[in-house]
Amino acid sequence: MTTPTPAPTHMEIQITGIRKHIAVCITETGEKECGIRSSVWDTPVPLNSWIRAHANETGHTKYKKHTEEPVNTFSKRVKASDQ
Ligand SMILES: [Zn+2]
Repeated sequence: MTTPTPAPTHMEIQITGIRKHIAVCITETGEKECGIRSSVWDTPVPLNSWIRAHANETGHTKYKKHTEEPVNTFSKRVKASDQ
């Protein structure tokens, strides 16, 4: 199988939104993780409060903090003059 030579392109990745912060409880409860997710916030500041509140309520001790950043890809055709 031969692959046709693709036209020269340059893949751009562009951030398209605000970085979001979320915490997830990964404490094992019996056979599986608790898995409860916090709300999604634009700043990381509320994460610790959410974790403390959930820990107070449940006694759960293991968490992960995640950030999400929406991005788009788009390919730019490389101009012959750029090569
Ligand atoms: Zn939990």
